[in-house]
Amino acid sequence: MRIVTAEEMYKIDQYAIQCGGITGEMLMENAGRSITKEVIKNLKKEDKVAVLVGGGNNGGDGFVIARTLLNLAYDVALFQLVPNKKITNEALYHKNLFENYGGKVQVVETASELEKFIPKADVLVDAILGIGVKGAIREPVRSMIEVVNNHNAFVIAVDLPSGLPADEGFELDVAIEANSTYIIEACKQSVFIESYAPYYGEWEVVEIGIPVKAYEAFPKSSVWDAEDLKATFPKRNTFAHKGSQGKAVIIGGQLTMPGSMALTAGASLKAGAGLVTVATIPEIIPIVASKVTEATYFSLKSDAGILVESDLPDMNGYDAIALGMGMGRNSKSEALSYKVLHEKAPIVVDADGLYHLKQFLGVLKERTSETVLTPHPGEMAMLLDCEIKDVKKSPFALSKKFATEYGVYLVLKGKYTVITSPCGEQTVSMTGNAGLAKGGSGDVLSGILLTFLMQHGSIFDAINNSCFIHGKAADLLIEDSHTTTDLLASDVIEGLPRVFCTFI
Ligand code: ADP
Ligand code: ADP
Ligand code: MG
Repeated sequence: MRIVTAEEMYKIDQYAIQCGGITGEMLMENAGRSITKEVIKNLKKEDKVAVLVGGGNNGGDGFVIARTLLNLAYDVALFQLVPNKKITNEALYHKNLFENYGGKVQVVETASELEKFIPKADVLVDAILGIGVKGAIREPVRSMIEVVNNHNAFVIAVDLPSGLPADEGFELDVAIEANSTYIIEACKQSVFIESYAPYYGEWEVVEIGIPVKAYEAFPKSSVWDAEDLKATFPKRNTFAHKGSQGKAVIIGGQLTMPGSMALTAGASLKAGAGLVTVATIPEIIPIVASKVTEATYFSLKSDAGILVESDLPDMNGYDAIALGMGMGRNSKSEALSYKVLHEKAPIVVDADGLYHLKQFLGVLKERTSETVLTPHPGEMAMLLDCEIKDVKKSPFALSKKFATEYGVYLVLKGKYTVITSPCGEQTVSMTGNAGLAKGGSGDVLSGILLTFLMQHGSIFDAINNSCFIHGKAADLLIEDSHTTTDLLASDVIEGLPRVFCTFI
């Protein structure tokens, strides 16, 4: 599944028309027919359908849907919410077809008229506004959207709920609250934005025949799925030995947070690391070791239970480093983080390591191997000196700016995790559920990531597969043995084998 901005979508359509030779009318036909095919899967013959069309391409799709439903003998009425002169080009072509096929266009110009016309509808198809929305929603559309939202019919949005922006970064105005949305061809960014997502309801993407070449002009931006995992997950050689599976070191921990180290080390080993060393303060080594039998331990210096500047194990021996989990934000630990960030192995920096990193972001540009940062929105806001709401409003743009400026892989975690490479490629990981909203989930992700960094040829694939598998383990667990209430981070580690057995 690809992800696009509105501007990219227009360019992609233009490419299809100019270089692919397909007409705009055909693309509209394909969109309307693909959506109708999905809609009728849940439609009863006695359902009364009202299709609401606006003045742009989105309205044009609505004419196709109405015509197709009519031709299949469904009970469909069409309400045109703009004057006749606003229906132009491809939309006009399809309006004419609808009428030629025996459809009746009812022009409705006010919200109160709309309220009068649609009371009996069981299903409302929202083809009012699409990706072409600009600025605040104007009257009478504004009040018409409210009429739809107050109606108790099942609401199906075409491409995106009317009024909602296609792109991230906007303040939410008024929008249709859809029960389901059929997204045309590629996900619009707004699908993944916390404040917009509920308006979509259930959603799926329908294909309309855009040539794949049309996407080549743009940086990669897509959802990472099970097929991507299967295509990129490295096979374990039968002659593998622990040395060939990667030797990792995890640096962090303090007296009050021993669990983080145990979760990261446990997840790293369960995800397939050959050897894992936990480097932490001596006070917590027995606790972590009692949880993670298979790891080895290296004692770092403690000042009253706080990790401070100390000698490190021989860092040349490690294939990857994880820094920061359970470390605390004490400034006494900063010097150690600074030192570790100068080591040459690929590194995952998470949690409190990110707080330290904030003091010396410049080191990121000096690093000679890959750096992966895994902030949640709060940590991201701290790194950017902005508010969490700003991060949630523009996760794609802010991630891209930071990752490309500092040359890092950025994993902005959340319900939808946005992953960005140093050259600005972006993916979204959609697996996972609210059961992961519990301390320690991120530590588990870091452990998986640490292992995959050592075993995948491509760091970007490693990160995507880590996020996919981490979330999928949680999803499989809540399908039967757990709920989103009781799920623990350690359960997610125990859930990894099922993902490996099912998806790889
Ligand atoms: P396009 O035709 O560009 O693909 P749409 O199907 O979303 O896009 O239709 C755009 C139409 O929606 C415009 O022609 C305009 O009349 C209407 N429109 C755009 N922005 C607003 C707004 N803020 N309020 C009301 N109507 C709008
Ligand atoms: P911690 O620091 O406590 O270990 P983080 O906040 O760093 O936890 O990480 C939480 C992890 O759980 C991230 O991978 C995030 O994507 C995932 N997660 C949290 N809440 C949800 C949710 N509602 N849906 C899906 N994934 C979630
Ligand atoms: Mg965390």
